[in-house]
Amino acid sequence: MPIEQTLSMIKPDGVARGVIGDVIGRFEKHGLKIRAIKMLHLSLEQARAFYAVHKERPFFDSLTTFMSSGPIVAMILEGENAIQVNRDLMGATDYRKAAPGTIRADFAREIEANIVHGSDAPDTAKVEIAFFFNALEQVC
Ligand code: ADP
Ligand code: MG
Repeated sequence: MPIEQTLSMIKPDGVARGVIGDVIGRFEKHGLKIRAIKMLHLSLEQARAFYAVHKERPFFDSLTTFMSSGPIVAMILEGENAIQVNRDLMGATDYRKAAPGTIRADFAREIEANIVHGSDAPDTAKVEIAFFFNALEQVC
């Protein structure tokens, strides 16, 4: 299995609901190492830039308003098969379809406010990591 890096975010609802520690604990318990971490409050413009891939979707305005509504925690996670491991821990986008025991099944109550973001492929991971972190902010 390749060692990969992926970008994780705890969304404003996850921060507001006080599950930062629980979410990070799940990552660490499953072998994902934190290589960089920061808390920040995205502007609407920054949220729109991050989610530009979804700009034609009907939920784009609502999603980016939500994502700029409060602080988030951004992290680089690293480990074997980290992109898929993180997606498996997150669960399906729609919490009602997420497997029991996943972050979204346990904490999300809305399809939009679904606690976490995780990169979906190596190319998007690279772009998303560079969106939040420069080389000096990453440990190796
Ligand atoms: P994922 O976060 O699982 O990779 P997507 O990339 O498809 O999911 O969508 C990005 C985010 O947009 C989701 O995490 C969720 O916050 C929001 N979203 C996706 N689908 C919908 C929808 N049908 N209605 C409202 N928000 C949605
Ligand atoms: Mg996605």
